[in-house]
Amino acid sequence: MEKTLVILKPSAVQRGLIGKIITRFEDKGLQIVGMKMIFLTDNVLEVHYAHLKEKPFFKRIKESMQVSPVVAMCLKGVSVVDVVRAMTGPTNGRSAQAGTIRGDFSVSVQENIIHASDSVEAAKIEVKRFFKEEELFDYPQLMLPNIYANDEY
Ligand code: UDP
Ligand code: MG
Repeated sequence: MEKTLVILKPSAVQRGLIGKIITRFEDKGLQIVGMKMIFLTDNVLEVHYAHLKEKPFFKRIKESMQVSPVVAMCLKGVSVVDVVRAMTGPTNGRSAQAGTIRGDFSVSVQENIIHASDSVEAAKIEVKRFFKEEELFDYPQLMLPNIYANDEY
């Protein structure tokens, strides 16, 4: 089954939204296989947001990600990368649909609550970037037969 990386950004931590957002993933039927609070260093952010490094606002984004620690999560499920991106909504919280995390909790492009891997390839790299092997747990999801048909997973 697929895994994806989620980061609850300082905008979520500071606004006290950690629990509400984790609950959405649990309610959806996704399995949490890794979770920790960390502070994102300059080095990690320069790699993680390498596609934005040349942007004039990169410093602003980096500082915003360092306002507080963040919560890094690894979620597991069938097609979990696409499922979590759909739950996340588009980058701009102002245009994100109601019902998505960004649509329900943000009105900003930068302060948009959550990071979620955008492809299966990116997810593999990003999970490795934030979690050591021993920080990821392989344990049975007891309600699996109630979450998927047996030929879906
Ligand atoms: N971002 C921003 N301004 C922009 C583009 C991105 O502040 O014009 C921030 C925003 O917080 C976004 C993050 O940089 O979530 C990463 O950008 P990306 O384009 O990868 O968007 P995402 O994949 O998070 O939707
Ligand atoms: Mg992205």
